[in-house]
Parts: sequence; structure tokens; C-alpha cells
Amino acid sequence: MGIRENIGEIIRQKDAYAREVGKTGQDIQLIAVTKTRTPEEILEAISCGITDIGENKVQEIQDKYDQINVPVRWHLIGHLQTNKVKYIIDKVYLIHSVDSIRLAREIDKRAGAAGITANILIQVNAAGEESKFGVAPAEVPVLLQGILEECRHICVKGLMHIAPFAEDTEAVRPYFTAVKELYDQLSEIRHPRLDFSVLSMGMSNDYGVAIQEGANAIRVGASIFGERDYSKK
Ligand SMILES: *Cc1c(COP(=O)(O)O)cnc(C)c1O
Repeated sequence: MGIRENIGEIIRQKDAYAREVGKTGQDIQLIAVTKTRTPEEILEAISCGITDIGENKVQEIQDKYDQINVPVRWHLIGHLQTNKVKYIIDKVYLIHSVDSIRLAREIDKRAGAAGITANILIQVNAAGEESKFGVAPAEVPVLLQGILEECRHICVKGLMHIAPFAEDTEAVRPYFTAVKELYDQLSEIRHPRLDFSVLSMGMSNDYGVAIQEGANAIRVGASIFGERDYSKK
């Protein structure tokens, strides 16, 4: 199957999962994850209706940004080093991977200098995996408070979560449930720079479970473009 058929299939699936929980497919933002993909592949996906693309490396955004000369929203979904914030601050629509006050301060500084407000998500590491970035659920409120107090050029839009890989996605359902609960709690906070509207969780392997548990943004790569071949890079 090609990119067009794959996107059509995911849109049908996400619609079906959304209906199970009383939503429609429109309520679930599909972010096409384009790491390792060529500008041609990305443009093909855009021609099939993709409006949001996700990259996990600053370098790849820099390399591809000018070649994708059609309106599209860039999402930085991977780990962001403080010394690289300056390269993408005016290019990305949403940074999904904020996991320290140090990084938030740098984003704030660069956004201020650029005269913009940076939209961010806090990355939660619900399973406590050593190999993944993100903050433990119990530490999220402290980080959020720090950002709201200190960072005047940041708007916090919600949470992002990457579940551990599991053949049987039922095994990771509790993590999605826990992150949704945290999201709902924090949504209660009233603050001018807090606007919870994005719960980014679910990838090719587990987006169905993620939607069932309340995700409203899913990040899908392999199911759109096929398996990644890192050896080509
Ligand atoms: C690669 C990646 C995805 C997409 O993973 P697939 O399995 O290809 O759908 C989603 N989120 C993040 C943070 C990623 O790095």
C-alpha cells in the first residue's frame, strides 16, 4: 500500500476509535511523523491532506523546512537540547518534549527575543523508563508551576506521552489512563498562560488504545510511510 492508502486507512481507524468514546475523527489530530523521510514523501503526505508533521530531530527540521514550501504545522516531538532551541523556535508550531525547567527557560528566552509565544507540551514518562525522556507524573505539577511563574513567553498546551513498546497494547493502557487523569487534573488550573487542549499520545502501534483513553493528538510514522530504514541515513 502507498502513502495515500495508508493515510486513508488511519483516518478511517481514528474515526472508528473516536466514535467509541463519543468523539469524531475531527477531534483527533493526526500528526504524520516524518523522521528519516524525504521531502518528496512529506509533500506526498501533505497532498493527501496531512496538515501537521512531526520530527524528532532539530537537524531534520532545519534540513527540510525550506523544501516544504506549502503551509504545514511543524511539531518537534523528540528530545530537545537547550543549545538547539534557537534553530527551531520560529519554525515550530508546538514543542511536545519539554521535560525540565532549564529547557523551558531557554525556550522562554528565545521566544521572547523572537517576539513570539512558544506553545509547548510537557512530556510525561509514565512508565518510568530509563531509556526515555520526560518527567515522572508526580513531578509534572512542580515543573508546570515553575513554567507558569517564570516563563512569560510560553503557553502550556497540554501533555505528551510515549508508551513503552508492547506487542499487546493492553499492557500499556494503564499508562495512557494515568496520563489522561493527570491531564484532566491540570486542566482545572486557571492561568493566562495555561491552555490545556492537547493530549499527545499514541503511535503506529498503539494509537487505538491511546484514543480510547483520551488522546486527541496521535503521532504516526511507520503506518503512513512504512518501516523506517535508518541505514539509508
Ligand atoms: C518516531 C516517533 C513516533 C512515531 O512512531 P511510529 O511507530 O513510526 O508511528 C511518535 N512519537 C515520537 C516521539 C517518535 O519519535
